Amino acid sequence: MRIGLGIDTHQLIPGKSMRLGGVDIPSTVSIKAHSDGDIIYHSIADSILGAIGAGDIGDHFPDTDPKNKNLDSRVIVMHAVKLAIEKNLILNNLDITLLLESPKISQYKDIMKMQILEMFLEAFAVNCPEMLVKTNPNVLFMEDMINIKASTSETLGFIGKGHGITCYCMVSLKDLDSESLKEALYRFVGKEYQV
Ligand SMILES: [Zn+2]
Repeated sequence: MRIGLGIDTHQLIPGKSMRLGGVDIPSTVSIKAHSDGDIIYHSIADSILGAIGAGDIGDHFPDTDPKNKNLDSRVIVMHAVKLAIEKNLILNNLDITLLLESPKISQYKDIMKMQILEMFLEAFAVNCPEMLVKTNPNVLFMEDMINIKASTSETLGFIGKGHGITCYCMVSLKDLDSESLKEALYRFVGKEYQV
């Protein structure tokens, strides 16, 4: 089992939408960034890189490299998940806390969770095709493995004044072995299952 923490902060500027967890949300402010500014994806990627001892996203995608301008942050997370799978580690759970004054994101949390879950599923399918033969990856990645919380700062500080946005992400990764496959199948079928 490995645990990692990712923290990201961005400045907010006037705009029409912001991308959070792969979802474009209508807003009067946008996230100022070199990439698409998806602060949730950035903190997820950093938490995974932290958990596997692989530095941070700046090491893998330097903002001095023009190739990374307007980069889809999904690419960054997929890269971190791939590195984790190469170390035989897959998602155990992910807990995300977003600090922002507005917009309200409660109605988008479910769709964000599905986007994030699908990303982990796709990375697993791409990087672990031999495991697909053994099991359906849908049973390895359940909706309750991902949690998204949002909080304001009660008008205090740069978040409360609407000047910026911060995201904290804590991840735990588990060894991809026959035990985790058995556990996933147990959760799915509700009884002992031979892998
Ligand atoms: Zn960022």
